[in-house]
Amino acid sequence: MANQLFVEIILPLALPGTFTYHISEQEKSQLQIGQRVSVPFGSKKLYTGIIHSFHQNKPELYKTKGIDSILDDYPLVTKFQIQFWEWMADYYMCTLGDVFRNAFPTALKWESETFIRLNDAINENYDELSEDEQILINSLGNKGLISINEASAIVNQKLVIKIVKSLWEKGWIRLDEVLKEKYSPKIERFVKVISELKSDGKKFNEAINSLKNAAKQREILLQLIVEETQSSKPIKISKFLKSFGGTHAVLNSMASKGILEIYELNTSRIGEIDNTQYEISSLTLEQEKALKIIENDFSNNKPVLLYGITSSGKTEVYIKLIEQKLKENKTVLFLLPEISLTSQMVLRIRKHFGETVGIYHSKFNQNERVELWEKTLKGDYKIIIGARSALFLPFQKLGLIIVDEEHESAYKQTDSKPFFHARDMALVLGNLFKLKVLLGSATPSLESFYNSKENKYGYAELLNRFGESKLPKIELIDLRKAMNQKEITGDISHKLRDEIQDVLNEGKQVIIFQNRRGFAPVVECMSCGHSPYCPNCDVPLTFHKFSNQIKCHYCGHSQAKPSKCSNCQSLELTTKGIGTEQIELQLNTIFPKARIARMDVDAMRRKNAYEKTIEAFENQEIDILVGTQMLAKGLDFSNVALVGVVRADSLLNFPDFRAHEKAFQLLTQVSGRAGRREEQGKVLIQTYNPDHQVLQNVTTYDYLKTVNEILYERKSFLYPPYVRLIQLTFKHIKKEKVDKVSGEFVKLMKNFLDEKHLLGPEEPSIGRIRNQFIRKVLIKIPENQSAKHIKQLVQKSLDSINTVQVYRSVRIDVDVDPH
Ligand code: ADP
Ligand code: ZN
Ligand code: ZN
Repeated sequence: MANQLFVEIILPLALPGTFTYHISEQEKSQLQIGQRVSVPFGSKKLYTGIIHSFHQNKPELYKTKGIDSILDDYPLVTKFQIQFWEWMADYYMCTLGDVFRNAFPTALKWESETFIRLNDAINENYDELSEDEQILINSLGNKGLISINEASAIVNQKLVIKIVKSLWEKGWIRLDEVLKEKYSPKIERFVKVISELKSDGKKFNEAINSLKNAAKQREILLQLIVEETQSSKPIKISKFLKSFGGTHAVLNSMASKGILEIYELNTSRIGEIDNTQYEISSLTLEQEKALKIIENDFSNNKPVLLYGITSSGKTEVYIKLIEQKLKENKTVLFLLPEISLTSQMVLRIRKHFGETVGIYHSKFNQNERVELWEKTLKGDYKIIIGARSALFLPFQKLGLIIVDEEHESAYKQTDSKPFFHARDMALVLGNLFKLKVLLGSATPSLESFYNSKENKYGYAELLNRFGESKLPKIELIDLRKAMNQKEITGDISHKLRDEIQDVLNEGKQVIIFQNRRGFAPVVECMSCGHSPYCPNCDVPLTFHKFSNQIKCHYCGHSQAKPSKCSNCQSLELTTKGIGTEQIELQLNTIFPKARIARMDVDAMRRKNAYEKTIEAFENQEIDILVGTQMLAKGLDFSNVALVGVVRADSLLNFPDFRAHEKAFQLLTQVSGRAGRREEQGKVLIQTYNPDHQVLQNVTTYDYLKTVNEILYERKSFLYPPYVRLIQLTFKHIKKEKVDKVSGEFVKLMKNFLDEKHLLGPEEPSIGRIRNQFIRKVLIKIPENQSAKHIKQLVQKSLDSINTVQVYRSVRIDVDVDPH
């Protein structure tokens, strides 16, 4: 008898390893590694899995099942990807299934719990459907929404996933996902005067004459000529009509007379269109030098850190490197932190490389994700720009990964497993598959800086801004002094107030940064000191004046603001601390004529609110924009002359070993929003600690001094980059249980680690969230021990805890390299 054949299959489960199924000779001949199949699991579940490997070793302990169906005739996952997934599962101490679940688009991995519904625009051509498919469609018509599990009772269970897949591909059904708005770059309409009119006096006179009975049109023509002479910026129709009057119909009629041209540009960040000259640019000497260093280190197989201050032209260097890779017929992955995907950067890369650029955006729906997956697999794109999840695409001939703004914490995934860091994974991919990796930032992370100092990475720098543009001037305002001298109204010092006024008088714009949202973080009783706390979490409730509610920022709980103290019934309640709402209100009082808007999670809940606010600010329909971190990320506004930071102190006092690093990065990035291009902007930072070293360094743009100081602290206190960390989070609704289990874990680990390397269990600053008590344990991997070994010990201890039935309900998250 021939040997029996088996396959190992990757399933999206939080169980270790792969799963063994038997296959027939005939199935074997149709299967390759990376192909999709559907399989039964346990007694009732159906899953889509990926073929991992083939073998002939019959499992001794259990009886294998066969596969239900083969879903495609070619692999959707490359061998490289599988190797990468395995590496990740191992490093981040999660299962291969956890990685697969995260890496693979939902619409490609149907399973029992997937819900489907009919597509809205339903096609009536039943003939294209098989009998089973028709049955399922009819039943969906009756029920509206069903799970694959329910569907398997209606049609042949073995075929159900195949049927669903086929219906999905034909466009009959869709996943029951929260429908995302389709992401589409915005199209804007612009107008310009036909160029001949401007160069040819005769033509110009003819045009003017032809308009002698149309006074408004003549005015428009003259006004357009004036505007075009004053600035080379494209003239947006909406903006022009608003400021000058007139209608679209008038412009259209002028266009049909051959006087104007109306054209469209594909953009959402139009402020940038004016620097078209860069396309033909050659590098400056400094950029050229950086490029040489990068190429040289690349040829020695080293990743490179490019430290370049804002506007030094890092992007120009990226573009040159991309061009080279394309010439070698390699593809390029360009990673950006989440929010800046609609930014200037995408436009510039797109503009330069055109249709060969694929964009992977978090707003994409499943159809779009699948399309991008397939096109990447086919090699249709030469360049992919995306946020961290773009790392998981099935690249062909990948040659270079660029990680822009590599210091950004948005690169770390924190909401679901694996808790990976995209910059680190880019480096891992580089190492596994011999790719070039470039990390770029104006404020590199300490890890990357340290690695380049230690010669693990190459290092190139751009220390000068391109052209004439100057870095904004940063000044600190001493809040204590302002208080003492009564030079402050509310939370706005008179210095900041006066500078805002000057900027507004010049018709320029202001950004005000405050990192807490709401009106005030704490409501307090003036007679007994009691504050209302969240019933589910150990945090005081934040007062939101606008909705007159108090809310929890951790679980979403909200209630009406109480009129009296629940402890002593006193009616005298006050608030402590400041949030964006309060700053907005104060500014409204100080500058009653200014147009003020707020940008924080609360204000951005409405559909498209984010885009609308950005656009209004760009169009200068807003004078002062107040906001949280959201404002710091990759936005470029050309008319902002002043950035104010209301209180820098809370950034510095954050209970986190990265607080200083993050404060420096954030303040430097926020400052970068002031005065791009010709004019020098200004930044005013209010603080109670004007002598704080980090703030001093921010004002002098002294990145190197900052990192060296922080590195010194990290070394003394044993933190990254000198040691690697593993953080374990224990959660349970019973306090005794988290205490018990986290305590047991630490007891076990004490056999291997001394107290310098094993911290906790500790109650974090917020000890309970959503009714779950939280305990944390921090492990510092000793320098003389391998991380792999320590992880094995951690796993062993966790396994041993898991053998105790009553401990199992405690949720334990393991975060390798926590942020
Ligand atoms: P960064 O990415 O470092 O912030 P950019 O690449 O955006 O800097 O450069 C800032 C500005 O200077 C951009 O408008 C860019 O087009 C321009 N610039 C930079 N380098 C050159 C160059 N070599 N030739 C022409 N323009 C350049
Ligand atoms: Zn009270
Ligand atoms: Zn809460």
